Amino acid sequence: MEKLKVELGENSYNIFIGENLFDDVAKFVMDSDFSKKILVVTDENIFKIHGNNLREIFSRYEDINFEIEVIPPGETSKIFYEVENLYTCAIESNLDRKSVVIALGGGVVGDLAGFVAATFLRGVNFIQVPTTLLAQVDSSVGGKTAINHRLGKNLIGAFYQPKAVFIDVTTLKTLPEREIKAGLGEVVKYGVICDTNFFNYLEKNIEGILGGNVEVLKHIIKRSCEIKAAVVSRDEKESGLRKILNFGHTIAHAIEEETGYTRYSHGEAVAIGMIGAASISQALGYVDAEKVDRLKNLIENFGMYTHCKYCNVEGVYNALFRDKKVIGGKLNWVLMKDFGKVEIYDNVPEKIIKEALTKIIC
Ligand code: ADP
Ligand code: ZN
Repeated sequence: MEKLKVELGENSYNIFIGENLFDDVAKFVMDSDFSKKILVVTDENIFKIHGNNLREIFSRYEDINFEIEVIPPGETSKIFYEVENLYTCAIESNLDRKSVVIALGGGVVGDLAGFVAATFLRGVNFIQVPTTLLAQVDSSVGGKTAINHRLGKNLIGAFYQPKAVFIDVTTLKTLPEREIKAGLGEVVKYGVICDTNFFNYLEKNIEGILGGNVEVLKHIIKRSCEIKAAVVSRDEKESGLRKILNFGHTIAHAIEEETGYTRYSHGEAVAIGMIGAASISQALGYVDAEKVDRLKNLIENFGMYTHCKYCNVEGVYNALFRDKKVIGGKLNWVLMKDFGKVEIYDNVPEKIIKEALTKIIC
């Protein structure tokens, strides 16, 4: 089991990466100063695969109060109704200020359970056990929790750091291929924004990654978490540096919105958005065509979309301005200077944006 520290002063915590870690999760809880009242939040799919095993592991300990609450899978569970249900469950289970909420699942479970942990009794202990690649490399690191409102995604939430994150790569064995690809969008992003060697590694290990090679997966997850942790440590509340994590996201959010969040997963939209952002960088003379092609080829070789259908340039262009990150009508662009090097710009001309959109929309 590898250990990675996220440095956040008194909110610092460790990310553990390895195989078959449920025993370690239980041990961590039992060795901590938490009260032994544990609420696990998971979804129906993950419960079927791991629910009994986790319950059995915790049942080996005496004097614990262990509850698993199962939510329906999917983004539609990130709603206030589910938050309220979980509060009810927490109250009925007599959770106290020193209890722990454990999120066992993908980003949906992590965001929802994290929000409950952040707000119940003004904050109880929280542990993340992410089971999707996307959650392992992105949403479980950084302390963002949120639920959706009918008028927009992730509009209600809190920054709330977990006490630990346990990334069990063996859980990925049952994850559908499309969900693996959804996570790879963010993995490629880390190579572009921070680490040219990591980008090279991804180019050389496509087979290992898609074939589920555990050592290769552990490496890409660890490097992704290291990069995200380093960025988050220096900018916990997203005032500056953390913006580089939005590479590819300006266009991605517009594509997701324009296609009603049904056609493309977040990671798929990020992959297309990165190609769009790289095209803008090229048009502005920051990066040459060869590098844009390398990025595009990697995305293609991972079997991800490089273009998007079901929307048009005007529609996506207008949607860019509806993103909640737009302040004062100015778009923030994270643009590529080289592999491992990006910069933020807020004055890209409309014509260049639309030309780049033309290249990725078909
Ligand atoms: P994300 O992490 O991309 O936000 P979700 O939390 O929506 O994703 O999870 C995506 C889907 O994958 C859900 O249907 C969830 O039940 C399922 N899932 C999550 N983890 C696993 C796993 N390890 N094995 C099989 N299915 C999983
Ligand atoms: Zn993202």
